[in-house]
Amino acid sequence: MNQFIKSLFFVVPFFWMTFSNAQNEVHTEEVKQEIADTTFVNLKDYSQDFVYDMKYATEDNFLKAKVYDCAECLLRYKTVQALIAANKEFMKQGCKIKLFDCYRPLSIQKKMWEIVSNPEYVADPKKGSIHNRGGAVDITVVNAQGEELEMGTPFDFFGIQASHNYKKLPISVRANRKYLKSVMIQSGFNSFDSEWWHYNLKTGLNDKVSNQKWDCN
Ligand SMILES: [Zn+2]
Repeated sequence: MNQFIKSLFFVVPFFWMTFSNAQNEVHTEEVKQEIADTTFVNLKDYSQDFVYDMKYATEDNFLKAKVYDCAECLLRYKTVQALIAANKEFMKQGCKIKLFDCYRPLSIQKKMWEIVSNPEYVADPKKGSIHNRGGAVDITVVNAQGEELEMGTPFDFFGIQASHNYKKLPISVRANRKYLKSVMIQSGFNSFDSEWWHYNLKTGLNDKVSNQKWDCN
């Protein structure tokens, strides 16, 4: 083999690797730039570290009705980023976020309102809630064994005991609620006084209500 052909064996793979690496870098940059903060995305596409118990995709909820065709957690991209930051904080202590509800399409809000037309329990679809805007989550915390931390009431318990201001609870329960609240607030969320499980992204309050659909296949 002459010297020229030998040198091609060395040079060609070198150029190919350099070129393909450059392509990957460009591609990654493009993907990052394409996603606006307000784009709806599926949480599972950005993290595998969450536990799911999407109550409205089952009959195990206060409506006693399955109102979602399947259990997916869609949120605006900025909500997903803040939620992942919060989860990383919980994971430092061996805990994880467990999700009960995320984005709720306006059509589902209307369906829920038809079942229970009481603003104490369901937000009036005419106004919409932060869930309809992709900026709210209903969550709890699970420990390393996957057990929910004791929060004093189940999710969607409608009574004073579910309030952050309710003091007649064991110290451990109050500490758990405080732990959840402090991590979420430092990650960019606001709490909601009457529901220990509900958190709103601070920058998501003015986003539009939406009727996104998600794929169940
Ligand atoms: Zn909620």
